[in-house]
Amino acid sequence: MAKELTLNNGRKIPQIGLGTSRIPKDIIEDTVCLAVDRGYRHIDTAFAYYNEVEIGRALKRKFEDGTVTRDNVFVTSKLSSHYHAEEDVYPACSESLRRLQLDYVDLFLIHSPFSLKNPGYFTTKGGVETGYLERDLKATWRAMEELVISGKAKSIGLSNFNSQQIEYISDGARIKPVMNQVEINIRFPQHQLQRFCEERDIMLTAYAPMGSPGHPNLLQKNTEGKVPLLKEPVIDKLAEKYGKNSGQILLKSLVDRNIVVIPMSTNPERLASNLQVYDFTISDEDLDIISSMEDGIRQFSRPKREDHPDYPFRIPF
Ligand code: NAP
Repeated sequence: MAKELTLNNGRKIPQIGLGTSRIPKDIIEDTVCLAVDRGYRHIDTAFAYYNEVEIGRALKRKFEDGTVTRDNVFVTSKLSSHYHAEEDVYPACSESLRRLQLDYVDLFLIHSPFSLKNPGYFTTKGGVETGYLERDLKATWRAMEELVISGKAKSIGLSNFNSQQIEYISDGARIKPVMNQVEINIRFPQHQLQRFCEERDIMLTAYAPMGSPGHPNLLQKNTEGKVPLLKEPVIDKLAEKYGKNSGQILLKSLVDRNIVVIPMSTNPERLASNLQVYDFTISDEDLDIISSMEDGIRQFSRPKREDHPDYPFRIPF
């Protein structure tokens, strides 16, 4: 079982959750059931993963067979970038809940600070991007706050927001964001963002903790010529030394920084082993070796988004 951390509103979140983007449709329901059987109590999904229906079915099975009750599973979903209009937020969350067959989500995040006209990627006409909008996310946040007031979401937060965008949302907010979900891994450890968020009592969740190997849509220039994180010889050596697998070493280095991690796996052994990171300690010397892997380059960066006025990654953190 994962440890629980406490959010700034006093609610608990299991530190290790199951990431679910890109889990194939035909196996996701069973994968989520297996994850719950193996001890996962935190599932991360989003409108954009098109899997809320299957996750809802899996959770229903696990509630019905008595493995878990609603109040001991933590479910996160996210507001898609084409639902940022204030009046779209409540219906979007309600639809996520309908698909998930739940009365509330534990955490609802604004998936990204860029507002789009349509789901998914930008659309291009004659070489000009036409799919994005500029919106005032303070209005979106006001509608997010209403989700907490109405009980649809126990907690609300952000994803892919930079420090300026977090500051903008937090200024005058009635309800503070509890979380910012961003890429964090040993090559891109986000120390500055973590310090910034810690000062404001906002927790970080690490997506792509394994570097998202095999993701088809990543910005090539950021990954080409690089050994995938899980195959880094240094990490291999540490895995051997501690009797763990490489994934566990990558997760451990984040878990020890009080970061929530949401690794995705469809493999039963790796699914289980990703929860088992509390029974060993990485020495300070080895943590220094891990720190030296930082190169400041995002693994998980998508093409075509840099032109958006709210593209968050233009500033260092
Ligand atoms: P990831 O978790 O870094 O990598 C997943 C890959 O690593 C899978 O292909 C998996 O393969 C492999 N893997 C997992 N554990 C392993 C281990 N112990 N040893 C070896 N290989 C292992 O990447 P991700 O799925 O992109 O990110 C995780 C989650 O974060 C997503 O699923 C999603 O929920 C969330 N996310 C959020 C955003 C956002 O914008 N908020 C963006 C990206 C992702 P096997 O299945 O074969 O084990």
